[in-house]
Amino acid sequence: MELWMYAGSQHLYGPGPLKQVAEHAAEIARGLDGAPAIPHKVVFKSVLTTAEEITSAVQEINGSSECVGVVLWMHTFSPAKMWIAGLSRLQRPILHFHTQYGRDIPWDSIDMDFMNLNQTAHGGREFGYMMTRMGIPRKVVVGHWKSEQAHQRIGAWARAAAAHASMQGARIARFGDNMRNVAVTEGDKVSAEMTFGYSVNGYGVGDLVERFDAASDADIDRLVKQYLDAYTVADELKPGGAAHDSLRYAARQEIGLRSFLEDGDFVAFTDTFENLHGFEQLPGLAVQRLMADGYGFGAEGDWKTSALLRAMKVMAEGLPGGTSFMEDYTYHFEPGRERVLGSHMLEICPTIASGKPSLEIHPLGIGGKADPVRLVFDSPAGPALNASVIDLGGRYRLLVNEVEAVTPDAPLPNLPVARTVWVPAPNLEVAAAAWIYAGGAHHTGFSQQVTTEMLEDYATMAGIELTVIDKGTDLRRFRQELALSDMYWASR
Ligand code: MN
Repeated sequence: MELWMYAGSQHLYGPGPLKQVAEHAAEIARGLDGAPAIPHKVVFKSVLTTAEEITSAVQEINGSSECVGVVLWMHTFSPAKMWIAGLSRLQRPILHFHTQYGRDIPWDSIDMDFMNLNQTAHGGREFGYMMTRMGIPRKVVVGHWKSEQAHQRIGAWARAAAAHASMQGARIARFGDNMRNVAVTEGDKVSAEMTFGYSVNGYGVGDLVERFDAASDADIDRLVKQYLDAYTVADELKPGGAAHDSLRYAARQEIGLRSFLEDGDFVAFTDTFENLHGFEQLPGLAVQRLMADGYGFGAEGDWKTSALLRAMKVMAEGLPGGTSFMEDYTYHFEPGRERVLGSHMLEICPTIASGKPSLEIHPLGIGGKADPVRLVFDSPAGPALNASVIDLGGRYRLLVNEVEAVTPDAPLPNLPVARTVWVPAPNLEVAAAAWIYAGGAHHTGFSQQVTTEMLEDYATMAGIELTVIDKGTDLRRFRQELALSDMYWASR
């Protein structure tokens, strides 16, 4: 994946200054390319000085499979009417980098030639006017090109651009339908494909059962050995243990699911405990391990969360920490120490585990199948967030709540599932009310890696609403924002 950078200018200045513009722009692109906070290659392409050059650059961008986003910098003044034709055709996310070559004004030597060459300050305004006038979504980053802060902001956008690009044409498999009568996990798969780029299709659980049956004893042996090496395995699951056959069946499920997803080029999937015909147990361990390998997942047929989780995992690539499917489960209402215990029946991703997960088997009260095998663990303290995409009928809202994960007050010896505990910002009382007013789902993508800024950029690229609950959230103002937002999106 590459980010392509162009500098805007014009022929007013003559060939000398244009040569300097090109040299400066190439140096800036190299600087961004080498910045650790920017995960993708940054390539300087050219200085654009006419409408024809801009239009032909846009054709090259649109035809490229490498270019996931375009960085535009107005080194000098670039009369913006010549950008209209190109910008109206551009099909990649835009970052308008409002920077200049030199950090400081050279107070002693500055003259008119210097000022004419270093005109970002007003050249960027002319360009910004055009994009605002045309209603073009973009990110504006202001700052010197060597500043760490600018790199962080460009890096967040680059991660969102990678996720956005990776979701175009992405395939999501559903095994079984939506959990019966549940509302928030429903949605319009056609409008989702038009908005986010991914397609969601259903497959019979019988097709999966065939894959389970096809798993060979040798492959199961190999996978079970991996489990024994990677996890603290309960005695009953070990070879010779009373429930060892259940572990072997879980391995069979992982092999079958993985082969189905790989052969079909799927990046995310859903299942539901209401459609398990032919399954001996609900897949727990298999889902957890597939999530850890980067697959999106949503339980109870929740394809919107599955897709969001996949996009978040692409954004998070290479960052420390983890990202998991999550559900707000239970509250702790002790005054002054209010917090949330998040978990699911089984399917929490071990990338958020603190320490070595424990591989266990316990009964599951629903689904009517045999006891499922699952990884049990706690998750570390630190900043994180929960994100949810909901379908409001004709449009989508991406809702984000920043949280601080905390260690549980005590061990949870009787809780047979992976879990994490967090304090939502600004506090549980405001955060949960705001989430509910916004219509946020019970399912989320929980991440120690993805930031609100990445999700903000992703929402901009998809052309959907972003609603954030953070330390600055005031409930009365938040409700007004929701009301105004409804009016704004109704007019789109
Ligand atoms: Mn659920």
